[in-house]
Amino acid sequence: MKFSIPGRGDFDIQKVIFDLNGTLTIDGKVIEGVPERIQALRQRVLALFLFTGDTQGNGATIAKELGLELKVTGHAQDKANEARELESEHCAAIGNGSIDIELFKTVKFPMAVRQAEGSCPKAEEEALIVFPSILDALDALLQEPPKRIIATLRR
Ligand SMILES: [Mg+2]
Repeated sequence: MKFSIPGRGDFDIQKVIFDLNGTLTIDGKVIEGVPERIQALRQRVLALFLFTGDTQGNGATIAKELGLELKVTGHAQDKANEARELESEHCAAIGNGSIDIELFKTVKFPMAVRQAEGSCPKAEEEALIVFPSILDALDALLQEPPKRIIATLRR
């Protein structure tokens, strides 16, 4: 997906990286409304990834269920390193935790979400935009053009 934000330039997002716990799931369960939005997003980008430390051991199952390519990334730096392999200039990432800080510093379009598990303020600082939920984040990305995002970030 391509869009321009006045004062910030052009974005050509071809890959979206998701964090798992607290982002796609709450208490290990996929948040209602996520699967259909990920399906819709699949039509708009080249690839979708799940980067997780997989602390609950359900990463592979959820990746398969949602059609995401799984990368097990146990540390903040692992997430950043994997993103660099994916041409981070063309990546968006959505996450909520301290472990996402380095990832957010690396990708072109970092997005933080606040939900039942909360979000790390330092991760939010590295994000370009913060949404109250993954559903809001995905709905904003799926707008064509993404008017909500542009309205918030234009300079
Ligand atoms: Mg998380």
